[in-house]
Amino acid sequence: MSPNGLDLSRSKALFRRAKRFIPGGVNSPVRAYGSVGGTPPFIASGKGPHVTDEDGNSYIDYVGSWGPLILGHADPRVVRAVKRAASAGTSFGAPTEAEIEIAEQVCQAVPSVAQVRFVSSGTEATMSAIRLARAATGRKKILKFAGCYHGHSDALLVGAGSGVATLGIPGSPGVPEEFVKLTIQAAYNDLSSVASAFKHHGKELACVLVEPVAGNMGCVPPLPGFLQGLRDLCDRHGALLVFDEVMTGFRVAWGGAQRLYKVKPDLTTFGKVIGGGLPAAAYGGKKELMQQIAPAGPVYQAGTLSGNPLAMAAGLETLRRLAEPGVYDALAEKTALLTEGLAKRAEAAGLEFTTTAVGGMFGFFFHPGPVRNFEDSKKAHEARFQAFFKSLLEQGVYLAPSPFEAAFVSLAHRPAELQQTLQAAEIAFEKAARVR
Ligand SMILES: *Cc1c(COP(=O)(O)O)cnc(C)c1O
Repeated sequence: MSPNGLDLSRSKALFRRAKRFIPGGVNSPVRAYGSVGGTPPFIASGKGPHVTDEDGNSYIDYVGSWGPLILGHADPRVVRAVKRAASAGTSFGAPTEAEIEIAEQVCQAVPSVAQVRFVSSGTEATMSAIRLARAATGRKKILKFAGCYHGHSDALLVGAGSGVATLGIPGSPGVPEEFVKLTIQAAYNDLSSVASAFKHHGKELACVLVEPVAGNMGCVPPLPGFLQGLRDLCDRHGALLVFDEVMTGFRVAWGGAQRLYKVKPDLTTFGKVIGGGLPAAAYGGKKELMQQIAPAGPVYQAGTLSGNPLAMAAGLETLRRLAEPGVYDALAEKTALLTEGLAKRAEAAGLEFTTTAVGGMFGFFFHPGPVRNFEDSKKAHEARFQAFFKSLLEQGVYLAPSPFEAAFVSLAHRPAELQQTLQAAEIAFEKAARVR
């Protein structure tokens, strides 16, 4: 490390080159470090809890490819499974046995899911689940929560958190107003705002779509009764409840947030962990709903690479590891050690600060708390986050470059890395405390 911070000279050169041929130099916006400034490290490799950039800097990673890498980078079992699958042929566009095995695992783990369809991204999964909800109810409108992100399909790019919030834009040009009108917004953790939406649009609402633990406005857990309240309102008004567990599925607990909070949605979407670091996602639910999907039923949805053998192999191997006893307790323990340590050090630095954690995901806010929704999350001190982020990066701790993202702990993070992170945080908090 140079005295002025990291040597990122090779990453800088790569970023310049990337910008010539790729919009903004990246294939997903937040990767460009727009909101924190500076050059994103170009990553050369990852192993366990670490990533190494093109200049040879090594970091303890809490991004985990934005959630999938719950076993850490290049887990030997996953790598072996993917290699084996690749040697047997990378794609057939025909049914394979691995697809059944992973579907069986998901259906056994998630009680509300009797059947499941695999797709290639979380965006596809939520888009398809909404199509099914609209078809099944014969209704057009959907309800989502401000600050929840459900992928970048037109209907869902309204009040989206995550990258859209990081860029500070309300939605996106290119999304017709006619589509936006069909997406109703409510406030997370605020059942009265949902009840009022039902009062106005009740007979037109096909579904309520929710992240059961919000992870795209930072990590914001549901308040007691919130998810059950949604279940009751949906039942009363004939709407479907859709849990977007693309982030939380197999991240916060075996079987996802719905098992943790004991609320059964009608449909669920998965992604991230379920693909074990390869492009796989899924949507599933009650049999009578899933039977409406083509070719069993008339609701069309298809994909050339859906159920891809490499992705199925990585996902299946990841789920097998996660099915072992004690895994989620170990993960939650690591997360708690980190968030409690952070809170203690922030307090020592005299900062207003609060943390959240569920299973293997956590959030932290330069805000006294509580953080219950997007409005609260937006009040967090942005400049302090930037100073904290920058100092940690310089000290070899890699966080998402935005206060609107959750952070992730993997099973590969050992006490040594967690302690090292906390030591770095002590210095980073002092830097943040100097920001007014
Ligand atoms: C990441 C995410 C998505 C989108 O998944 P992609 O694979 O990036 O398309 C959807 N919903 C939630 C809750 C997510 O966190």
